[in-house]
Amino acid sequence: MHTLWLADIGADDLDRVGGKAASLGELTGAGLPVPSAFVVSAGTYRSFIEDTGIEEALFSAVDVDSDDSAALAEAAERAQALLLETDVPGEVREDVLAAYDELGDGAVAVRSSATAEDLPDASFAGQQDTYLNVERADLLDRVKECWASLFTQRAIYYRNEQGFAHDAVDIAVVVQEMVDAEKSGVLFTSHPSTGAPTAIVEAAWGLGEAVVSGTVSPDNYVLDRESGEVTDVTVAEKRVMCVRGEDGRTVERSVPDEKRDAQVLAAGELGRLLDLGEQVEAHYGCPQDVEWAMRDGELYLLQSRPITTIDDAEAGGTGGATADGGAMESQSDDVRLSGIGSSPGTVAGTVRVVDKLDNLDKVESGDIIVTEMTTPDMVPAMKRAAGIVTDQGGMTSHAAIVSRELGVPAVVGTDDATDRLRDGRLVTIDGDMGVVQVGRDETTGDGAASSDTAAPDTSTDAGAPAATTAPTDQRHSPVKPMTGTEVKVNVSIPEAAERAAATGADGVGLLRIEHMILSTDKTPTRYVADHGERAYVDEIVEGVRGVAEAFYPRPVRVRTLDAPSDEFRQLQGGEDEPAEHNPMLGYRGIRRSLDRPDEFELELRAFARLYELGYDNVELMIPLVTDAEDVLRAKSLMREAGIDPEKRDWGVMVETPASALRIEALCETGIDFASFGTNDLTQYTLAVDRNNTNVADRFDELHPAVLELMGQVIGTCRERGVATSICGQAASKPEMVRFLVDEGVSSISANIDAVRDVQHEVKRVEQRLLLESVR
Ligand code: PEP
Ligand code: MG
Repeated sequence: MHTLWLADIGADDLDRVGGKAASLGELTGAGLPVPSAFVVSAGTYRSFIEDTGIEEALFSAVDVDSDDSAALAEAAERAQALLLETDVPGEVREDVLAAYDELGDGAVAVRSSATAEDLPDASFAGQQDTYLNVERADLLDRVKECWASLFTQRAIYYRNEQGFAHDAVDIAVVVQEMVDAEKSGVLFTSHPSTGAPTAIVEAAWGLGEAVVSGTVSPDNYVLDRESGEVTDVTVAEKRVMCVRGEDGRTVERSVPDEKRDAQVLAAGELGRLLDLGEQVEAHYGCPQDVEWAMRDGELYLLQSRPITTIDDAEAGGTGGATADGGAMESQSDDVRLSGIGSSPGTVAGTVRVVDKLDNLDKVESGDIIVTEMTTPDMVPAMKRAAGIVTDQGGMTSHAAIVSRELGVPAVVGTDDATDRLRDGRLVTIDGDMGVVQVGRDETTGDGAASSDTAAPDTSTDAGAPAATTAPTDQRHSPVKPMTGTEVKVNVSIPEAAERAAATGADGVGLLRIEHMILSTDKTPTRYVADHGERAYVDEIVEGVRGVAEAFYPRPVRVRTLDAPSDEFRQLQGGEDEPAEHNPMLGYRGIRRSLDRPDEFELELRAFARLYELGYDNVELMIPLVTDAEDVLRAKSLMREAGIDPEKRDWGVMVETPASALRIEALCETGIDFASFGTNDLTQYTLAVDRNNTNVADRFDELHPAVLELMGQVIGTCRERGVATSICGQAASKPEMVRFLVDEGVSSISANIDAVRDVQHEVKRVEQRLLLESVR
């Protein structure tokens, strides 16, 4: 037999079915109603390569020095071709299709499950492929593609680095039914703010996508876990629902009149959800945020994650500690610097002045990085750091953006921190007030971060931050406020995806891909020259995929490359980049892309590949637009790369006065949305360099000139049926939120730490508007 059912699998079966399948099997075994799935075993993959005689050729193809990038690219290509071009033996084909037929005849999700996936220090998770909405006819091809994904350049390189023999890792494939739910929603097994024994259920008609993405206001039920009583019920008006369309994709439909105001869940169903919550929480040993669905009266558990918003003080958490707490004693000289508090929290740690990229290694867990300006290559060190201080930069600089996403306190734009702070000194930084003080500020406690922002989880990566990194403002509401205006989140580094998704945001309003590319330490040209086009495409696909997966089916707006040339000049290959007098006004965004159509095409191929992989939640956004002609050229390049602009959501950033003034012509290009990049719109409207600390006090996103441009754009877009959004830093400001909601913006995309506050602010404005309309 080549296939196994989840019910026959447990945590001990990792070798047979890989990590993902073993954990799904474990949940099934715990009596939790996971949608049915079978697994094409790891042994099937193994016997496929052995029986077809490709084993030797496969492993000798990947026996290369992975530092030799050309050899690595060739190895990956050869290995994948061997797997994809070899026919699956008849008996495997029969078994897999028979299991599929037994599962039912609907669309399935096909997910890789590698046997080394979840081993400590060997996180292969997410490196292999997943395909959604797969039909019977494509099933075997997708299974083979999952097998082949064990041999991407990245995976080969990774195994070499980790010292895993290539033939010691096998791959199984999970084939899981996609549940066509009649009703679905979210269940918090305990109070999401206090951890009290109160379960909260949100429920709407149709697929869970509508609830998770916030397109519908769900009913809300509060249940006392001890008595089992339903203590509060709020029945919402549910106008739309998501259903699976004929082509397998999710589509929105109106809710039939008789169901609009009807209560979704009956008392008995709530009782079953309460029982499910008890089981899930008991199984994991901590409160869970569960996605559930019901079909034909059956209840399914689709996903379960720990609740990260429970207040530590109430839950008894201690907060993080800086690494070298004991060694940090106050120093005598009283240096105090001020700058811009750009990522909240107060923390003490040892100064590491980083002036050259090659001394990043000296940054250890819990240190404070002090540098002129951070660059994308510093991200790994920034993840280890307890805090960040820079000489230059404003609220929208790289340092500010990344540190906020990582939850690491930061003070930017101090002017002279690299001169005045010496290596090895103990300092305390206050990322709210923008102050750096030598010595430990007593209020920070014993080498620990202050209670509102603990030291980052330095044990893994930012993708799995400790609950203690959640800012207080994310904890103050038990349930996400439902708003008509969507509230999304910005993501710049894929490592922040999980943390961003846990905010409950309605999607990603801006994913900046330049951070992924720049963190390779090579310019796009050099990267392609060294590793090949395919590896460059893979690099983008992998980075975006992590975010698209964490948010699926919520939309993720991915922006094509937009980095000024001075950032590229710092990388390998940077000597071939133009030296520009004012890079902010220079060769960046769509200008660069259209001037280098070959490189742009690779980015577009990455989008096409993501669509092929089933990530229909990915949207494409073009930066630094001024003219409709540029947009039309980009649109035709999209077509050439295999992206159908009529089928996919795509749009532009409005971040130049020209784009705002020419918005009508831009709407005519067929865009689905326009998103304000207020960081640039402000700098170009007011002639204030956003990174120049000398004029930082003049950088005012709420300047009437900026607001006038924005108001006009929203008005025109509303007339033309084009959605509007904001993804600049100003989206986190309450005044901007009030202005935009009043004007009728469709969505607001804020920083991770501001999402919950923005949700509340939006709700307040919407309620005021409603009241005014009936008074
Ligand atoms: C903006 O300009 O507001 C924006 C979001 O883009 P970036 O900060 O990456 O230039
Ligand atoms: Mg911009």
